[in-house]
Amino acid sequence: MTQPEMHIDRKLAKDDLILITGAGGFIGGALARYFHDLGYTRIRAVDRKPLAEWYQRVPGVECLSTDLSEKENAVRAVEATVEVYNFAADMGGMGFIERFRVECLRSILINTHLVEAAWRAGTERYFFSSSACAYNTDLQKDPGARALKESDAYPAMAERGYGWEKLISEIFCQEYWAERGLETHIARFHNIYGPDGTWFGGREKAPAAICRKVIEAKDTGNTEIEIWGDGTQTRSFCFIDDCVLGIDLIMHCDKLIATPINLGTSELISIDDLVTMVEQIGAVKLARKYDLDAPKGVAGRNSDNTFIKSVLSWEPDTPLRVGMAKTYAWIEQQYRDRKAGKRVVQD
Ligand code: NAD
Repeated sequence: MTQPEMHIDRKLAKDDLILITGAGGFIGGALARYFHDLGYTRIRAVDRKPLAEWYQRVPGVECLSTDLSEKENAVRAVEATVEVYNFAADMGGMGFIERFRVECLRSILINTHLVEAAWRAGTERYFFSSSACAYNTDLQKDPGARALKESDAYPAMAERGYGWEKLISEIFCQEYWAERGLETHIARFHNIYGPDGTWFGGREKAPAAICRKVIEAKDTGNTEIEIWGDGTQTRSFCFIDDCVLGIDLIMHCDKLIATPINLGTSELISIDDLVTMVEQIGAVKLARKYDLDAPKGVAGRNSDNTFIKSVLSWEPDTPLRVGMAKTYAWIEQQYRDRKAGKRVVQD
């Protein structure tokens, strides 16, 4: 079901000020476009990156480049806001979060300052983008591991660094509601992918990396593809359009105040099968070389969607094959543009 088919009671006037942090990145940029297209006229988009490096700049959206791990900047950013969506974090795919744990942990400063500033400013609703990496890693040691339900975050044994930061920030959000009455909403994203995201440079995630490798192989005539791990790792992947709609639904649901909820699909696939899918999209067959020493994350992770279906009567439903075809087409165009010396999303 798409947004125009759903009625969402946002309790939000079209000129209420909405803050989106991390808006120079993938999900924040997509959400700024989404609210703009729905007719919201006062959107403040903030990111640490210089404006020229933002993935999307939406016309009519106020764009500020500032570091939100500094308290004064967080205070200025939330001034007069009715809603705050926090996507700002130092993050990336496994290649980043396994190597840069300190950077991941330091994102705690962003949420800590923002949630306090939002409470002081009288902001009505606050959204935090948590992650499936907050789940207990002991439950993810097998490619066929059962899907994770919300209660599986405890007893806690999160992904070291990135996952623990998410878990602690979730607790901040829950206690700002319990003790101080700031309405907070928390989604645990499961591998979001799609156009206008990171596709090279070391922070990209598996779907984008695999698309890029296949496109590169076709272009250069290379017949081999390198895969991180042994290819048996399993994941579910959620298309960006489902993600932004899910954020809107979760933020505006009274039953989901201070209650972490999965936002992902339950369509499980192994990395090997994802490579096959991308080969089919690209109409090519490559020899596989497995790098067993590369970062590969947990063995298996899927989203149990029982809770989201019961509370929202909805779950992300874009078939992976459809979302991957759109992602592949976008990366292919980016690849061509870059080769032709044109500016692309991450330049
Ligand atoms: P992204 O890297 O594309 O966007 C994050 C943005 O935050 C970047 O543009 C970065 O410059 C900005 N940022 C970092 N530090 C900042 C600071 N101190 N001040 C201001 N801006 C800062 O990532 P994304 O995929 O859009 O993810 C958005 C959020 O969703 C993050 O919190 C991430 O942890 C979470 N998440 C994403 C996924 C996913 O699959 N993409 C999965 C789980 C959770």
